[in-house]
Amino acid sequence: DVLINGGVEFSSLLLSKPMLEGLSASGFHRPSPIQLKAIPLGRCGLDLIVQAKSGTGKTCVFTTIALDSLILENTTTQVLVLAPTREIAVQIHAVVMAIGSAMEGLECHVFIGGRPISQDKLHLKKCHIAIGSPGRIKQLIEMGVLTTSSIRLFVLDEADKLLEDDSSSSFQEQINWIFSSLPVNKQMLALSATYPESLAHNLSRYMREPTFVRLNPTDPGLLGLKQYYKIVPSHSLPHKVFEEKVQSLLELFSKIPFNQALVFSNLHTRAQHLADILSSKGLPAVCISGGLSQDQRLEAMWKLKQYQCRVLISTDLTSRGIDAEKVNLVINLDVPQDWETYMHRIGRAGRFVGFSSDVNFVAMDVKHVSLPCVTDPIPPGIMDEACDWDVIIE
Ligand code: ADP
Ligand code: MG
Repeated sequence: DVLINGGVEFSSLLLSKPMLEGLSASGFHRPSPIQLKAIPLGRCGLDLIVQAKSGTGKTCVFTTIALDSLILENTTTQVLVLAPTREIAVQIHAVVMAIGSAMEGLECHVFIGGRPISQDKLHLKKCHIAIGSPGRIKQLIEMGVLTTSSIRLFVLDEADKLLEDDSSSSFQEQINWIFSSLPVNKQMLALSATYPESLAHNLSRYMREPTFVRLNPTDPGLLGLKQYYKIVPSHSLPHKVFEEKVQSLLELFSKIPFNQALVFSNLHTRAQHLADILSSKGLPAVCISGGLSQDQRLEAMWKLKQYQCRVLISTDLTSRGIDAEKVNLVINLDVPQDWETYMHRIGRAGRFVGFSSDVNFVAMDVKHVSLPCVTDPIPPGIMDEACDWDVIIE
């Protein structure tokens, strides 16, 4: 198990008794390697950049540091956590409440768009830890309902996504604004599965001499992950390619034993159509995409977790951070545009199958995201390399 770390237990990290109780109640007895490295440094008050693959337990890193820093008698907000999607924010909240379950009076709430502001106001009357999306958090600070003067810890989860250089996302501006509204004296933690050049650059604006915490690149990360690809015939008509892929998908589902599967489609419009096809073939499927309302998205995630569906079809909305433990097969119906997205997608399961009508692209995925160097960036120019690898289907 990637999370087992020699004989070291959480108790050797000298955490408070309620925290050890909470960890144990959450089923966490031994710190994962990244937790063992980062938690003691974070508790010393250092600014940290924590980089470790998906599924290595980064949520518990900042949750433990955050809970440890709280003065519970003071009910104003002391920790602010930003997350790129609503789903991740909700999930972080669950982890905080679980690890903090023995901390009496702990108040932690989620602040995301699509929920009434009036409810936020109520929650902010007592809120030690605020978790939210940049947009809503900015709005609440602007309105004066989220008081920032007591914030001592600022966390960016999925920092690479939050600080992406992407003109279509306004996160950077919002985060800049939020950052400047916080007290100068504070600790900052940034967590990410990847560490592209642009992230280093962007973080340098916020952090002063951060300590970089990462696992040894040779440490096994996504252990037990097998990756396969299947090349589907290419067609000039996009809907023909889609039909081929669906055909192959059905074939795979009939051949590969799996518990639950995630299927990634690059196109929102195809996701629902595919869910209908699968459901009609006896594989209950739901889809989740940015086009759905907040409630619909949460409901789809809930169905997956409650085992009410076998297949969740998603656009990249859920490729980050979502922890669906029964999912053991991830299929990229469409290969993602970049390797970071690919990493996040495959981090969701122990198996992977990629489809494409574009041979180079699939080959690139298979060759360079193969274990154990799954976090290594794909060198530029690799997409032009000729492909002569075999199609592997178990
Ligand atoms: P990351 O943010 O690095 O992708 P998560 O924080 O989502 O990873 O954790 C991945 C999974 O590992 C979760 O299911 C979590 O409950 C589990 N986990 C994390 N830390 C531990 C631990 N110390 N012991 C057991 N399970 C853990
Ligand atoms: Mg995470």
